[in-house]
Amino acid sequence: VLSVLLAWALCGTPSGADLRAAALSAGEVALRALLAGRQAEMERMLEGWVNQNTGSFNRPGLEAFADVLAGELSGLDFAVEREPATPLWLPGRSDVVTGPLLIGRRRAAPSDRRAPRILLVGHYDTVFEASSGFQRFERRGPDGVRAHGPGVADMKGGLVVMLEALRALREAKELERAHWVVVLNADEEIGSLGSRERIEAEAAAADFGLVFESAQDSGAMVRSRRGLGQFHLTVEGVAAHAGSAHERGRSAVLALARKIVEVEAITDYARGVTVNVGTIEGGTKRNIVPSRAAAWIDVRYDEPASGAWIERELQRIADATHVEGTRGALWGRLHRPPKPPSDAVDRLLDTHARVLRGMGIEPQPALHSGGGTDGSLMGAAGLPTLDSMGVTGGRAHTNGEFIDLRSLSERAAVAAILLQRLIDAKLYGAAGEG
Ligand SMILES: [Zn+2]
Repeated sequence: VLSVLLAWALCGTPSGADLRAAALSAGEVALRALLAGRQAEMERMLEGWVNQNTGSFNRPGLEAFADVLAGELSGLDFAVEREPATPLWLPGRSDVVTGPLLIGRRRAAPSDRRAPRILLVGHYDTVFEASSGFQRFERRGPDGVRAHGPGVADMKGGLVVMLEALRALREAKELERAHWVVVLNADEEIGSLGSRERIEAEAAAADFGLVFESAQDSGAMVRSRRGLGQFHLTVEGVAAHAGSAHERGRSAVLALARKIVEVEAITDYARGVTVNVGTIEGGTKRNIVPSRAAAWIDVRYDEPASGAWIERELQRIADATHVEGTRGALWGRLHRPPKPPSDAVDRLLDTHARVLRGMGIEPQPALHSGGGTDGSLMGAAGLPTLDSMGVTGGRAHTNGEFIDLRSLSERAAVAAILLQRLIDAKLYGAAGEG
């Protein structure tokens, strides 16, 4: 009784008729109260996880953290398959091995054959390697609701939200009503180059998917996303003494400079295409004609067809001779397809917004994002996917990354209630959408 009263208190006081119409059911109120009661435990869990480094290239750190996550999933009655990371070839880093891909499948199968197949996805690598100066979970500010740390929002906070939502649903005996697959990868921050195929295969077999990347600081969800590519352009030339044999040298730096002007010219805002030469390097000494130069290029695009076109343009520029006697080479991946707006995702967003209103939270308008997630791979595989189900926070990929700690239990409640309503909708038509 106490927990139910607490839940009503937490619900706030809906004022308008709209809010009353969208009120949570008694079961949903209980789920929310259950998760509110887990807040302190969720903070403790997150602190421990954030203090454990899992940079994408920190193989031992990833292996150790995979044990923790596999343990959590086993505790929720998931059979966990642990697929060892395959070596990845990346420019400048041969034989990169990240961490294992974890695929958890709930053992108990639902008896109802209409039961939905639900795919939950998250990554446990972060962009902060063991060499980074940003390693510790730290509360800041007088009210203690904000914490900083590597991966607090992107996305160890999201992993806490996902697992706690599952735990609450299990206590509510809701897990029995669906098929559950959880995919946790360790190479998302380098573009999911090794885990992509498994994610696409699981997406093709599911009815809907949720990805627990963080929402915006405002709580806004993402409706659509741009496609992403990463390219590495290298030029080989001929080294020579800049004083005594300048004419025999073939400058790779000069050739790369000319290529860069053409690469940058691919950008076409009207077409939703941006190309950014983010880094350049080349040469060894002031007085040597440089025999090698290289650039990293970031590509973003809105239309699915633009990706292949940009790739062809980059290849043409790499192959063209800008300085006689030099040779260009291109490595690249279009690692995130665009996630265009879709009716199926809009329906998920609509259900999500109703859950928020039921909790007394006014939903923010959903956004178009320039960043990609594994949700884009799932969407391109035909799976309706909401990809910002994690905590609220921001400044991901910087030493200022933060989380609003209150969002841990709040977002877990949103996820749990949303999942419950989606299961109802699958089992009983639109009944669960009210
Ligand atoms: Zn992320």
